[in-house]
Amino acid sequence: MAVFNPKSLKAEEFINHEEILATLEYAEVNKNNVELIDEILEKARPVKSGNGTTCKGLTHREASVLLACEIPEKIEKMYEIAKEIKLAFYGNRIVMFAPLYLSNYCVNGCVYCPYHLKNKHIARKKLTQEEIKAEVIALQDMGHKRLAIEAGEDPVHNPIEYILESIKTIYSINHKNGAIRRVNVNIAATTVENYRKLKDAGIGTYILFQETYHKESYLKLHPTGPKHDYDYHTEAMDRAMQGGIDDVGLGVLFGLELYKYELAGLLMHAEHLEAVHGVGPHTISVPRIKRADDIDPDVFDNSIPDEMFEKIIAIIRMAVPYTGMIISTRESQAVRERVLNLGISQISGASRTSVGGYTEEERPHDSEQFDVSDQRTLDEVVGWLIDNGHIPSFCTACYREGRTGDRFMSLCKNGQIINCCHPNALMTLTEYLVDYASDATKMKGFELIDTELGKVTNPKVEAIARDNVADIKASNRRDFRF
Ligand code: SAM
Repeated sequence: MAVFNPKSLKAEEFINHEEILATLEYAEVNKNNVELIDEILEKARPVKSGNGTTCKGLTHREASVLLACEIPEKIEKMYEIAKEIKLAFYGNRIVMFAPLYLSNYCVNGCVYCPYHLKNKHIARKKLTQEEIKAEVIALQDMGHKRLAIEAGEDPVHNPIEYILESIKTIYSINHKNGAIRRVNVNIAATTVENYRKLKDAGIGTYILFQETYHKESYLKLHPTGPKHDYDYHTEAMDRAMQGGIDDVGLGVLFGLELYKYELAGLLMHAEHLEAVHGVGPHTISVPRIKRADDIDPDVFDNSIPDEMFEKIIAIIRMAVPYTGMIISTRESQAVRERVLNLGISQISGASRTSVGGYTEEERPHDSEQFDVSDQRTLDEVVGWLIDNGHIPSFCTACYREGRTGDRFMSLCKNGQIINCCHPNALMTLTEYLVDYASDATKMKGFELIDTELGKVTNPKVEAIARDNVADIKASNRRDFRF
């Protein structure tokens, strides 16, 4: 029997099944242990220290006790603390991005995904470099600066060379004032050598969802294809880090397995990355299964109601306070509105989950990966964020200035990241408003920027930010490094 060891590089030791079962038992026994729950909540709370704020985070065991706890006032406390942490480290900024589907050719057999090999009626598409240009221009015309590229796993149709060439194409396009300044990559688990090539191509975060941490279920849910190899998939982030990628993004597909098991596994994965590489995950995504071409989400009996979903998000926020949290347009406007207050720091807007979706007029598109709930335009999403007291940010400066991996984490941990992010968010929002926003969004956006500029704590930084905002408004652009 494998023994739990967060420092091991073996999947069965750092995501240890027996440790997860013991954790769930411990959580069940302690779910009404008010003293312990209060202690855990106290530990999670952000503490002011010097100029900044620090947080201790939570272990997978502590987080699992909170997840099991059903005492309403304690759950309310969790939401309060999650919000406090979000505001302490990320302020009211929300980073914007969009997915870009390059190809839906796939050799895997994932039973929840319509791109699986046996699906013979879904339209199979792979963008040419010319088509990628057209998609990127459409995305730049909306105002996007940050993309997550997506592709099925197919060594013949989508080899690493195709992905690398596509990244180069994306970075090369400057349409009007547009530019894609950060390309995150969500492709199948691969080799250290390929991760090194992705790093050299200048990617931002490498994202790979675990789907489920439960090995037995994983093997059934991925019956065929290279993705069937649970260990290879689970150990992918270690190979990515060995290949020099220091920002990695985790996630599980909620609905496949018991959420309690998944939360423990997800946090053990984060603990493992921190223990081995000295830096935890840059982001965690929280996708839930959606209806898709030949996929009925009701077939999977582990779906979670919205209230539990919100609780999970708040607990992840408390457990890994320095990790960004992402929510996609799989979720409705109403759900997104609630979880923005519980720790989410990045959202997608105006997403198309089909290959070539940004240049196709009509929905639904025949190569779509799953139904999108939030179908608003980027302008509508930006306006709505402002109405709800958030600052939509199009900033990509950290990665462009080399603030990745442990450099980002150490700035975040001592609360200093806010001095970079807040003015940058305001400047990139100004840029968006000038170049792309409707009159209504422009008006409320500029009002918000005026108020927020006054809140920048360092007078020097405030003066520079004010100056830059004025320059962008006058369209007298400098070479900004947002
Ligand atoms: N081929 C890559 C891989 O294997 O990781 C990229 C994955 S895919 C383009 C992105 C993610 O979409 C998957 O990791 C999965 O979690 C999610 N996904 C697949 N089918 C879905 C569905 N029916 N509803 C919601 N999300 C789904």
